[in-house]
Amino acid sequence: MADSKVGLEIPSCDVCGKPAVIEQAYSGRILCGHHLAKSIRKKVAKELRKQLVLKKGQHNTIFVAISGGKDSAALLELLVDIIGVRPDVTIIAGTVDEGIEGYRPPSLQCAIDLCERLGVEFVTVSYKELGFEEMDTVSKLIPGMTEKNPGAPSMPCSYCGVFRRQGINHLAKKVNADVMALGHNLDDMAQTVLMNMSNGDLERTLRLAPHTNTPIDGMPPRIVPLRWIPEQEIHLYAVHKNLPIHHEECPHARGALRWRHREMVATMEADVPGTRHGLLRMADNVKELRDQILELGGQESRPNPPKECPECSSMTSNNQCKACEMRDMVKNELTNYSSFLAN
Ligand code: SF4
Ligand SMILES: [Zn+2]
Ligand SMILES: [Zn+2]
Repeated sequence: MADSKVGLEIPSCDVCGKPAVIEQAYSGRILCGHHLAKSIRKKVAKELRKQLVLKKGQHNTIFVAISGGKDSAALLELLVDIIGVRPDVTIIAGTVDEGIEGYRPPSLQCAIDLCERLGVEFVTVSYKELGFEEMDTVSKLIPGMTEKNPGAPSMPCSYCGVFRRQGINHLAKKVNADVMALGHNLDDMAQTVLMNMSNGDLERTLRLAPHTNTPIDGMPPRIVPLRWIPEQEIHLYAVHKNLPIHHEECPHARGALRWRHREMVATMEADVPGTRHGLLRMADNVKELRDQILELGGQESRPNPPKECPECSSMTSNNQCKACEMRDMVKNELTNYSSFLAN
């Protein structure tokens, strides 16, 4: 069954026979837009049943971190569709404004448009409001910082990731969230698992979301309902549902370590379909093993027990949290830079 009217062999959906939009090498399924959307909704609903524990007899606020991009747009739309009607659930979405010219303003607008369309309350906070410098400034200061501080990260995303986490936590606190939902897809998750494994970082593998029953460091548990859905399929879903999404890429993204892992995971998946699922299952198995040991009365060993950062009171294993350490380093460099320009 194939549509060859235009001379191209378009495979047919294995459910309804209409022209397909995807051939899932990892599952053998061929689906049209409608049936792909249906299967994604089903997988996400199943994942929500596993990851989302709602407090019985109480109200539950779910904070959804959205960026204006396809993943978080699909996540918000699916959450509203699947649990939005529940009287005991309020969904609030929010975006952190990193201060990236040409990228953040249009994507912020997409996030606002999406919330308006779905009837969801929208909140936002900027790096400036949080006391961090804007990313466009940070990226200019990186050469000076790496020169003076040998351990300073050389890629903008290393700073941005830490600052954004603070921003998301800030918004979640502001709306009194019980749960935070993030739009990580299967490719993101597989890349993170591979990155952690290449670093020998067991600690981070154990702390990987979802945190369903284990809030980490005093923050509401993070859930990742799209974690089994490949990036390409989420993109097709967002297009199929005509969601307002921003397609441009952040100008600081290139060169980040994640890009190498992105390529590696994509190559491995093309060679051996199912590799991404395997990486994620590996992390799940490690977490499962930890839970079994804890059930048997074992103790979780962390390098240092977490304590409050004296400056921002977020939890940290060191004397100062990573965000405050990076913020101070950026501020120092900015002072040096400004006095250099003034002389
Ligand atoms: S690509 Fe990097 S710098 Fe750009 S928004 Fe994402 S984390 Fe921040
Ligand atoms: Zn179909
Ligand atoms: Zn701090």
